[in-house]
Amino acid sequence: MEKFNADGLVIRVQTTGETTRIITILTAEHGVLRAFAKGARGPKSKLQSATSLFAYCRYSLVKSKETYIVSEADIKEVFFDLRNSLEALALAQYFCDAAARTIPEDGTGDEFLRLLLNSLHFLCKDNKDRRQLKAVFELRLAVLSGYMPALVACDNCGTFESDVMYFDPFRGKLLCDNCTQTEGIALPLSVISAMRHIVFAPFDRLFSFTLSEPLLNTLEQCAETYFLSVTQQKYKTLDYYRSICNL
Ligand SMILES: [Zn+2]
Repeated sequence: MEKFNADGLVIRVQTTGETTRIITILTAEHGVLRAFAKGARGPKSKLQSATSLFAYCRYSLVKSKETYIVSEADIKEVFFDLRNSLEALALAQYFCDAAARTIPEDGTGDEFLRLLLNSLHFLCKDNKDRRQLKAVFELRLAVLSGYMPALVACDNCGTFESDVMYFDPFRGKLLCDNCTQTEGIALPLSVISAMRHIVFAPFDRLFSFTLSEPLLNTLEQCAETYFLSVTQQKYKTLDYYRSICNL
């Protein structure tokens, strides 16, 4: 048996037995861990809040063979304000779902955790457009997971920018308007610049860019199509988010 502490964010909650929860936590040092929290669904359990979705805690864990068990938890943040908005809550659920199914289990979770914690903070504060947050989350998550779109220049001739560029979300490639008029999604240069920012910016400036209406819709659609294409998954949480936003 090995005991250790880890700061982690609950990104998935499953149940087993009468009162046990199995939580998937994203930690900086240990990546993604699945841990059993015995009795966590009992009405008087101290672990009830600490094993709920979006809980960010300092966990004391015990590793026995290949199984992790939560022995104690100190809550740092529960992102309670997500509950103020149905859309924000639904988008946060999609973020956690996407993270749980995309982040590789081996390796460190440092950058993934930063991305997710910051996204949840912005959703709580409600001071950034949700389409922008969603595009940042999806594109940057794709990049961190090893799916880097080739956005530096036209894939055919190397042109850095043209007024309109064509992004193929299924191949992650860019073409200039001399090289195609039809392939991929036609995007104004400002959307390409926003996508380049999301892919290449240092983390502390990741969320700091502006894009005018209705280009936020274009950016959002583009990021989503690319993310769904590279991860090859269907997300019920995304369908739900879209349904309540009437998208
Ligand atoms: Zn070209």
